[in-house]
Amino acid sequence: QDGKEKHAYQSDVARLRKIVINSLYSHRDVFLRELISNANDALEKLRLTSLTEPDVLTGAEQMNITIQATRDEDGSGRIIITDTGIGMTADELTNNLGTLAKSGTSEFLSRAESDTSGNGNLIGAFGLGFYSSFLVADRVQVASLAAKSSKNPDPKQYVFSSGADENSFDIFTDPRGNTLGRGTEITLFLKGDAGEYLEEKTIKDLVNKHSSFSTAFPIYLLTHRVEMVPKEVPEEEPVAEEEKPETTETPKEDIDEDEVVVEDVTEEVEPKEEKRKEPELVPVTREEWVQMNSQPPLWMRDPKTVTDEEYENFYQATYKDFNKPLAWYHFSGDSGSGVSFRALIYIPSQLDDSYWQNPLQSVTKDIRLMVKRVFITSDLGEDALPKWANWVKVVVDAEDLPLNVSRETLQSNAFLKQLRGIILKRLLQLLNRIMEDDPEKWAKIQETYGNVFKLGAVEDLKNREKLVQLVRFATNQRNSTSLDEYLENKKQGQNQIFYLADMGKSAEELSKSVFIEKLHARGYEVLLLGDPLDEVFITNVRRWKKIGFQDVAKAGLKFGDEEMTAEEEKAEQEALTEKYKPLIEWLRKEVREKGAARDVIISNRLVASSCAIVADEHGYTANLEKLISSSHA
Ligand code: ADP
Ligand code: MG
Repeated sequence: QDGKEKHAYQSDVARLRKIVINSLYSHRDVFLRELISNANDALEKLRLTSLTEPDVLTGAEQMNITIQATRDEDGSGRIIITDTGIGMTADELTNNLGTLAKSGTSEFLSRAESDTSGNGNLIGAFGLGFYSSFLVADRVQVASLAAKSSKNPDPKQYVFSSGADENSFDIFTDPRGNTLGRGTEITLFLKGDAGEYLEEKTIKDLVNKHSSFSTAFPIYLLTHRVEMVPKEVPEEEPVAEEEKPETTETPKEDIDEDEVVVEDVTEEVEPKEEKRKEPELVPVTREEWVQMNSQPPLWMRDPKTVTDEEYENFYQATYKDFNKPLAWYHFSGDSGSGVSFRALIYIPSQLDDSYWQNPLQSVTKDIRLMVKRVFITSDLGEDALPKWANWVKVVVDAEDLPLNVSRETLQSNAFLKQLRGIILKRLLQLLNRIMEDDPEKWAKIQETYGNVFKLGAVEDLKNREKLVQLVRFATNQRNSTSLDEYLENKKQGQNQIFYLADMGKSAEELSKSVFIEKLHARGYEVLLLGDPLDEVFITNVRRWKKIGFQDVAKAGLKFGDEEMTAEEEKAEQEALTEKYKPLIEWLRKEVREKGAARDVIISNRLVASSCAIVADEHGYTANLEKLISSSHA
């Protein structure tokens, strides 16, 4: 495989590259973050693999990331990003960079192609890192030397090369040989208008902003500075390295391009000779590797020292979200089983488009579990969160877990079993704090997560009380009330929580109902329920503080003030049924599988089904409750 091999991009890749190049132009800074994130992934993979196969560490001692920018004679520029991670074989270069392995790609692509917002949200959410290189580069060359392993005992360095406008890429043996030791070197041949990325300051700023705190591996930048040094006099000994004037506070070493210094050189070097003639000074450009992320990763820092902006940038870089997070909670704790940990929880500002579409999917991939800063997994499998909370983004770093925990032993690990409870508890605390202290943010939370809390109250029996307290309803008297507030406001002698439910109607429409009029006039507050999830909520929660819900529209009664024609009503119901189809289908499947007699339907009025449930109080509802919760117990 020594000769050049030409490969056509998979058609999806060609489409994708086009979208990336066209739609992300104003966000082209992201290329650096994406490449550093890939380097970090490759290093994490190497470290993880080395626990079971130490051979992979062969070839390069350090685990780090380096960046250098070079302006060539003709004015063109290159950025070279290198990591000593797991590397890629020729096949891996072809497959990882030439095809899109992710499922749902085609669907995503058509959505992205029709997305004219230009904010790159879709791309960001999909995490299409590598192709962002073409935002700034005409040509990208990836040289990679895969880590030595039993499968690959004699690794060879290969190159992937592709131009931004080409529909194919080349794979060939690196003519330079195995220069890397181990890992991957990405060379971006910058576009004419991307010269700003050659500036040290630009690179430093970008790394600081997006990447410095998201990786536990050091990132070095090759910097250049001009220094006045003694002119070399031919007949004397050349000026020794250690005699060069040290001007920086932290001593650093000069080194070869393909070698990176990691140890701190702290010893002071005294000039050896005292008797020296005043030498003539000449300017010399010195190269120096400077570590850009000398701080510990953000989640390990004292929360008092982390700024909001840092929390936001870390979130955006780690979870590939162009939006800022709505809120976060950074804490440390002790699991009770003797594991001390630090954790950082984020509430995103939006739910994924797919959240209500895929109610069956209850596994989150966004809990990053680290042990002593080493990434272990983001797939907690069965121990993941219940569906209502599976959107939460978490970093957990445990101090006292064995480093070589495998995915299998993780499943039976006591700490992991507790982790779910810990995350939910803190998430609920965070939500409560927002509820009490920050009305503006609370309104946003309600807008995005209001229905999620209803779902949670149905699904998560253990936290039902707390979740019910987060649920808000509109009433005939106010825009928003909790059930507690409702009870505080009830009239003397009132021993029911009144509600009127008519799916698809707005609170305003509901408030005009004749059923409300009578109660309203007499000073009663009535919950106005227009969302199908309200039905699920009421039929499962059934009472609050021992007070039951009561439908103010009697069963069988026809609304007298219908503003919709029967046809319009039917169309409305169909639309809503379509919207909540996956949820209903899931509930229905649960109900049927576990042998409950009843079906689950979306009814136009709560009236009929809620009456049926009241009549069968200890049967259907209790069962449904168990069924729903059992799938997450
Ligand atoms: P993602 O990181 O989401 O998988 P990318 O487009 O960023 O998508 O990268 C595609 C794939 O290419 C990665 O999954 C990885 O297998 C491979 N890859 C990219 N960069 C590197 C690297 N520096 N070292 C090793 N493999 C890499
Ligand atoms: Mg990536």
